[in-house]
Amino acid sequence: MRKNLFRPDSGYRGRFAPSPTGPLHFGSLVAAVGSYLDAKHHHGTWLVRMEDLDTPRCASSAAESILRTLDALGLHSDEPILYQSLRTAAYEDALRKLQSSSAAYPCCCTRKEIADSALNGLEGPVYPGTCRNGIPAGREGRAWRVRTNNNPVEFCDALQGCITQRLESEIGDFVVKRADGLFAYQLAVVVDDAFQGITHVVRGSDLLDSTPRQIYLQHLLGLRVPQYLHLPVAVNESGEKLSKQTLAAPVDETHPASTLLRVLNFLRQQPPQELVGSNTGTILDWAMQNWHPERLAGIRALPSSIAYFPK
Ligand code: GLU
Repeated sequence: MRKNLFRPDSGYRGRFAPSPTGPLHFGSLVAAVGSYLDAKHHHGTWLVRMEDLDTPRCASSAAESILRTLDALGLHSDEPILYQSLRTAAYEDALRKLQSSSAAYPCCCTRKEIADSALNGLEGPVYPGTCRNGIPAGREGRAWRVRTNNNPVEFCDALQGCITQRLESEIGDFVVKRADGLFAYQLAVVVDDAFQGITHVVRGSDLLDSTPRQIYLQHLLGLRVPQYLHLPVAVNESGEKLSKQTLAAPVDETHPASTLLRVLNFLRQQPPQELVGSNTGTILDWAMQNWHPERLAGIRALPSSIAYFPK
């Protein structure tokens, strides 16, 4: 484990929080390396958290494979891995808090009912508010939603500038506990970022639109708002985000050093040719000292093909 031997802990705490639905692909590795370098550049602590909340979609073999790949690349969590599947009690507590202030309410609507009567917002249908003031007679609550409003939620991202959202009209009252009994990502991420004392969230720009919901929940729950830095996401030749759905290839862990150099190239860190042939530790040391995320300012997506690095 690489430690900051000569410097006191800076108080920076960052994390990489993969959902273990499959092996690590280039797109998620970009978030892993970016969050690691930002933390280490600031002499901070870097954590790995397994977001294995959606148990039906998560396989323990995928979590193991992600951790093995991170290890092969020299990206070691500074503290034990936190598994969201073991954190239900903490999410229950947070939900109780939201319920007790009437910030959360039960909802009986099915996906189809919502789709039939909703307008489209930033991320699909905006919940029309059917159960906001109580569940219609004869129906039963299935999910829990958070009551939103149209006060602007604003934050300034370290790369993407300042962003304002009006949750009620752009997103709608959103789910914090799903009809199948699972807690939603938005709630879990906020509870765990606070629990782990995360000060800086570095992740892909696909989560930029989720951030105002998370900040809103942080306010409702009285939690500290971390700083956010959203990196460009890696896209394929068709402009689609690399993901399990777009059949992104698993990261090549048999050539960890050249895989890292490709990621650094993608992140516009201009790794020098002299690093070719070095081990992962040397490459990461160079990269944390020479970390210049500002080269990615305002960029939300980049093709993964630009990550080519001559061997
Ligand atoms: N688990 C989420 C994902 O893999 C990332 C969560 C986050 O970084 O906030 O997309």
